[in-house]
Amino acid sequence: IKKEPLYPWSLEKRYKISKNVLGTGSFGVVKECTDKCTGIKYALKIINKKAIRGKEQMLNSELDVLKKVNHPHIVKLHDLIETKKAVYIITDLASGGELFNHLIKKGSYTEKDASNLVKQILEGVAYLHDHEIVHRDLKPENLLFSDKSDHSNLMITDFGLSKILKKHNDILMTACGTPGYVAPEVLRQTGHGKPVDMWSIGVIMYTLLCGYTPFGGEDQAALFDSILSGVYYFEEEYWSEISDYAKDLIDKMMTYDADKRITVHDALKHPWFHMANNINLLNN
Ligand code: ADP
Ligand code: MG
Repeated sequence: IKKEPLYPWSLEKRYKISKNVLGTGSFGVVKECTDKCTGIKYALKIINKKAIRGKEQMLNSELDVLKKVNHPHIVKLHDLIETKKAVYIITDLASGGELFNHLIKKGSYTEKDASNLVKQILEGVAYLHDHEIVHRDLKPENLLFSDKSDHSNLMITDFGLSKILKKHNDILMTACGTPGYVAPEVLRQTGHGKPVDMWSIGVIMYTLLCGYTPFGGEDQAALFDSILSGVYYFEEEYWSEISDYAKDLIDKMMTYDADKRITVHDALKHPWFHMANNINLLNN
């Protein structure tokens, strides 16, 4: 029996694909691979073309955009290999792991540490928005640390393709992965512009500071209702020590009306970023 090769020759001639799984997303696993010439390690994401059926032309225009993206807080697209059946996306390796796992380990972040992280996310998103790219799926699983050191850069991954990939229409049905970070207008299917990213960063900031998400529910339907209501609280028990500056920025990012929501450039100018550093100087 002739066995079909696991990977196409066009990929295998350049990269050694490791069994090491870096993470799992909505398209399956992301693996580590090594450039056979340089020895440099990268991440390999495989997208089955079935996932983009009917939108094949969009893929190319979108990938052209992604190829040009170059920013310290965005995972860089290094190489692309396309076959009839799949697209192999090779990006720089972010070996420090997901912010999600760091948050779980730590419980929550101090204002100083959170402001440092939120600033990096905003800087990456400012670059994307300036290039008319909306991420649409910002959450701690899509934010990766560049390396394992304490001064590691936070980097945004998994962006750009969301327009063409079917996964976004599946938000409403997906059982794995909590859509707790999506803006209400995404659930109502009435909006998908830049403000949706600001909402998600608001939810991320909230979660980093207190260790739990602002919206919840027994099941997905209840979670959706909670997000659609737009009502969240700063519970005394967890938020009494946290500055009003932080709460003000969260409120501005989680403004229900997308037209009134703060923009990424205005968020970067928010006084919390100066404040958070100073409070901790006094405390330490
Ligand atoms: P999906 O669109 O399927 O969610 P992602 O690009 O978010 O795919 O990748 C899924 C997971 O794989 C991430 O949450 C992360 O843990 C891991 N991963 C993705 N890209 C990289 C990378 N460049 N370096 C290290 N790990 C990565
Ligand atoms: Mg992802």
